[in-house]
Amino acid sequence: MTELRHPSQEQQALLERYRGSHVGVFGQPGLVLTHGDGAWVWDVDGHRYLDLLGGIAVNLLGHGHPELVAAVSKQAGEAVHVSNFFTTTAQIEAAETLLEVAGAPEGSGVFFANSGAEANEAAIKLARKTGRPGIVSVSGAFHGRTTGALALTHKESHRAPFEPLLPGVTHVPAGDVAALEAAVGPDTGMVILEPLQGEAGVVPLPEGYLAAARRITTEAGALLVVDEIQTGVGRTGAWFAHQHEGVRPDAMTLAKGLGGGVPVGAMVTFGPEVTGMLTAGQHGTTFGGNPLACSAVLAVLRTVHEKRLVEHARAAGQRLAERVEALGDPRVAQVRGAGLLRGIVLTEPLAAAAVAAARERGFIINPVAPDVIRLAPPLVVTDDQLDTFVDALPAILDAAQAAHQEAAP
Ligand SMILES: *Cc1c(COP(=O)(O)O)cnc(C)c1O
Repeated sequence: MTELRHPSQEQQALLERYRGSHVGVFGQPGLVLTHGDGAWVWDVDGHRYLDLLGGIAVNLLGHGHPELVAAVSKQAGEAVHVSNFFTTTAQIEAAETLLEVAGAPEGSGVFFANSGAEANEAAIKLARKTGRPGIVSVSGAFHGRTTGALALTHKESHRAPFEPLLPGVTHVPAGDVAALEAAVGPDTGMVILEPLQGEAGVVPLPEGYLAAARRITTEAGALLVVDEIQTGVGRTGAWFAHQHEGVRPDAMTLAKGLGGGVPVGAMVTFGPEVTGMLTAGQHGTTFGGNPLACSAVLAVLRTVHEKRLVEHARAAGQRLAERVEALGDPRVAQVRGAGLLRGIVLTEPLAAAAVAAARERGFIINPVAPDVIRLAPPLVVTDDQLDTFVDALPAILDAAQAAHQEAAP
């Protein structure tokens, strides 16, 4: 019987100070964390957790990865920021390497931003440059919280308090080719899609849908933009999730794992025609492309390549899904997703209770929907580490079920 971890009085006092000093948009954080090592993190009480959320698909190399630490430390000692009146070797190499792993053709380009929402804002401006006002997004879509990106996001509760938002956005049912075909026309500037919808509950698009979207947008003369902010950089067992479908988008947005935890976003434009759509003075951001963030991007891309983490994500994710399903636990309906972005779909709305029970047992997981547990661990997570979670899962679900029944008898 493992000893359950509960925050000490000291930790609770710190959480109270958080509450007294922050805008409450994130609710109450669960723990005060101090540091990590690979897929492990520690709280201020010295309790250790296996971080199977990876900072929400951000800590691609885990915590304290020597390549990332060395690159960022070296860069910090040289220049953290230089402004976009100048550039740096770090910025140039990060862009070139990103284009290379994206398989982007000659004449492609990168716009570095500082977050996912900001990368999508750049895509919105790209769409505006088509001269067409319409944007088509899909049900379940999550594209960020800034007001432009929020207009593309589907969830009513995220959008409603902030309306009116950007006009011209239509949401069609995800995966419905006929609905997409009907919605896309001569007024459509872009269709934006997540190849695998993370925030919706790790929901994949049906096979062939992305290819259909490519055909429909090409025929209509609209841009196809893939939001790979959560799925990019090896997460799903391909460098980028759209590559599973062999589709080339017009643009792709990235953030989350791209800097391994250092804040950075990017829009990649494929080919000279799309890349030339935004010209000098039409967009910008003060911090975008700063050498500190770019040194992190470069270290992440090189390490993912050298340590074969794309292949590892594919194999480890497959093994994890098979092992969870092999438990035959009646409360597990299905494991979906790809690579190391997985949703454990439950037969009951136990996800929140499971997260609490898991934390007490030393695992950090995420309730992405009432009945879905999301796992997005660092790509450096080992099979043995994942096995410890699979072994603990039945007890976690037992505890979750007991807590759930207690709360709503
Ligand atoms: C997280 C996320 C965003 C928003 O990124 P931020 O860095 O939080 O602005 C956009 N799209 C997808 C698919 C995401 O997962």
